Amino acid sequence: MRMSRHPQDPEQTGGFVNYGHMFVTLNRGDYWQCAFVIRKGGYDEVRSRGLDAFRAEIVRLAPYLADRVQELKDWDDIKLLTVEVDRLTRWWRPGLLCIGDAAHAMSPIGGVGVNLAVQDAVAAANILAAPLREGRVTTSDLAAVQRRRTLPMKVIQAIQIGVQSRLIDPLLDSDKPITAPGRCGCSTISRFCGGSRRGSSASVSARACAHSGAAAGAIVKRSRAAATI
Ligand SMILES: Cc1cc2nc3c(=O)[nH]c(=O)nc-3n(C[C@H](O)[C@H](O)[C@H](O)COP(=O)(O)OP(=O)(O)OC[C@H]3O[C@@H](n4cnc5c(N)ncnc54)[C@H](O)[C@@H]3O)c2cc1C
Repeated sequence: MRMSRHPQDPEQTGGFVNYGHMFVTLNRGDYWQCAFVIRKGGYDEVRSRGLDAFRAEIVRLAPYLADRVQELKDWDDIKLLTVEVDRLTRWWRPGLLCIGDAAHAMSPIGGVGVNLAVQDAVAAANILAAPLREGRVTTSDLAAVQRRRTLPMKVIQAIQIGVQSRLIDPLLDSDKPITAPGRCGCSTISRFCGGSRRGSSASVSARACAHSGAAAGAIVKRSRAAATI
C-alpha cells in the first residue's frame, strides 16, 4: 500500500515491530511504500476486523502516519503479496533453462534474491557461452549450471527459512507490546539489522534487511513465509 510522505517525516526507510506486527516503510520521495507483514493465510482475518481496525494498527506502530491513514479508502488500496520460498527440482529442459526466481523463488529476507539471480546469470554465461557460440549446447551443459548454483541457493534459502521461523514467526505469534531491549526477538532483529528503537515500536533499519517487515516437497521446497499487504 502507499501513503503520502510529508517533509517532516523521517528520511529513513525502515520498519516497526510491535504488538505481533511488522510494518515496513520504504521512502519513495513523495510517498511511502508500505508493507504490513501478516501470517500467511491471515488476510481474511485482517479484513474481517475492518479497515478502521487496520488503520488503527498501522498508527499504533507508526504514529506519524495518523494524519494520512485515511488515504487507504478501501481494500482496493491494499494489495496482498504472498511471499514464497521454493525451488524447482530440475531447472532445465531441452531448450530451456530457468535461473533466478524462476528456478528458486527467494523471500525478501536479507535482500539477497537479486544477487542470487545475477550470480545465476553469470554462471550460465560462463558455462554456456562457448557451447552456444559453437552451436553445441547439450542438456548436460544446462545441468552444469544448476549444479554450480545449487549449494549457494540452498544455503541462502535455509537462512531465509531459519530467520522466518526463528525471528519473524515468533514476532507475529505474539500480540504483546515489546517492552525491554534484549528480552525478545525484536531486539534480536534490531541488532541483526543494525537498527534502533524509536517510540513505542522497535524500528529496524533497511540497511541490512531491505524489506524486513514478512512456507517443502519433491517438486518444490516451501517455507512458512509470511504474506505482506
Ligand atoms: C516483497 C519482496 C521484496 C524483496 N526485496 C528484495 C530486496 O530488497 N533485495 C533483493 O535482493 N531481493 C529481494 N527480493 C527477492 C527478489 O525480488 C528476487 O529474488 C529477484 O527479483 C529475482 O530476480 P529475477 O530476475 O529472477 O526475477 P524477477 O525480478 O521476478 O524478474 C522477472 C521479470 O520477468 C518479467 N516477466 C514475467 N513473465 C513474463 C513474460 N511472460 N514475458 C515477459 N516478461 C515476463 C517480470 O515482469 C519481471 O520483470 C524480494 C522479494 C519479495 C517478494
